[in-house]
Amino acid sequence: NRERFRGKTAIITGAGSGIGKAAAVKLANEGAQVALFDLLDERTEQAAREINAIREGAARAYDVDVADPKRVEQAVREAVEHFGGVDVVFANAGINGKLAPVEDLSFEDWEKTLSINLTGTFLTVKYTVPYLKQRGGGSIIITSSINGNDTFSGFGMSAYSTTKAGQVAFAKMLALELAQFKIRVNAISPGAISTNIDASTEKSKELQEIVIPVKYPEGSQPLSDGPGQPENVADLVAFLGSDEAIHITGARIVIDGAESLL
Ligand code: NAD
Repeated sequence: NRERFRGKTAIITGAGSGIGKAAAVKLANEGAQVALFDLLDERTEQAAREINAIREGAARAYDVDVADPKRVEQAVREAVEHFGGVDVVFANAGINGKLAPVEDLSFEDWEKTLSINLTGTFLTVKYTVPYLKQRGGGSIIITSSINGNDTFSGFGMSAYSTTKAGQVAFAKMLALELAQFKIRVNAISPGAISTNIDASTEKSKELQEIVIPVKYPEGSQPLSDGPGQPENVADLVAFLGSDEAIHITGARIVIDGAESLL
């Protein structure tokens, strides 16, 4: 049983489900205190209860819309006051949003996907960096995707792909900007992972009828035919958040079982 995060605190967005929840459980299992940021949702309270059953007081749920600047600023302050500081920031909340050909994508559809995935990442980082500096350093991990960086196979995902590529540029600029404060910034690019993300997908009618068949070149195949598990990604998040990754910053790490190579 490793204790890489003993005495450390993590703020995790999108922590009520999927990759964020798995990362919260993983970090708490290794000694961290975790602030779970998500939309007001029974699932987030449930995640906090599960983690507090591992270690009483290790988790607390915060009702935060990451696209709301005032709320993000306030919740970060509340979490830092409650836990005494922050060392690891996992900017992970995201939605698929509306999938549609560009001419059917409304201004509001575009704005919604950008405000949660991209502006939400910016706000999470902006309001936590002063506290990471106070601690003398820390680790920021941003959940991007293979979509928008390695593959563009998700038809109708122009807004989503734009946010996922944008998050990588953001992480790389920040790695240089924040190195002087011993703050590392990395992006992770998962392939398909078994989570609740499909519930955040709004599909245009045409797209509901499109099924893209998966074909592998003969003799080549990814690690598995199905999606990866959130726990697989949580292991990577824990590594990047820990001192074992002390020389890794400005990187983007693909975790997709070779899905994007096909
Ligand atoms: P998920 O839907 O299971 O979890 C996402 C969480 O984010 C949910 O609990 C949701 O309530 C929360 N959220 C949504 N909008 C929010 C907002 N405005 N404010 C705060 N919280 C909000 O999905 P997941 O797959 O765990 O997604 C996590 C991240 O992983 C996303 O950024 C997603 O783009 C990325 N990702 C997922 C996959 C995949 O296949 N599942 C692949 C690549 C990247």
